[in-house]
Amino acid sequence: MHSVTKYLAGHSDVVLGAAVTDDPDLRAALHGYRAQHGAIAGPSEVWLALRGLRTLALRVERSQATAALLAGRLAEHPAVAQVRHPSLPGDPGHERASRLMRGYGSIVGLRPVGGCEGADALVAAVRLWVPATSLGGVESSLERRRRFATESPTVPEDLLRLSVGIEDPEDLWADLDQALRTLL
Ligand SMILES: *Cc1c(COP(=O)(O)O)cnc(C)c1O
Repeated sequence: MHSVTKYLAGHSDVVLGAAVTDDPDLRAALHGYRAQHGAIAGPSEVWLALRGLRTLALRVERSQATAALLAGRLAEHPAVAQVRHPSLPGDPGHERASRLMRGYGSIVGLRPVGGCEGADALVAAVRLWVPATSLGGVESSLERRRRFATESPTVPEDLLRLSVGIEDPEDLWADLDQALRTLL
């Protein structure tokens, strides 16, 4: 089962999922169920998803390279309390990700100085990054997840989830840096 909504479609304009199998019997059963029950994806959404898929490899390559670059710089920033990205040698996920993955992904966890107020101030101060719930799109976004009461209490209150897109890496850094400096 895949969420097509995120990286596969990649442009934050589709809500869609895909069930994928290499088992012909299972495929026939799924196909039969869909044909008989009629719940098919909208043609426009599928068209957008197919367009997005054509650039999936390029988008993932670029966004995860930028995420690693930003994570490394954030780790050195005086307005950052903690940064999480498996590309960082000290990260708890680094060893496992290095062994199992071909890249380190495009999601960065960031805890700025100043707790929740610092995090909310950072979200308010960015100009290029979009405050938004979605992730995996061409545009970079960020959100403090714990502002939702339904979010798991295991997520730190002041944690910002950054989804790195495909914009110019230096533009993304300049915007984060100017926003972080407002916290000092
Ligand atoms: C991820 C997401 C959903 C859920 O999509 P799934 O395909 O179930 O992952 C819905 N709305 C938004 C804005 C999302 O980012």
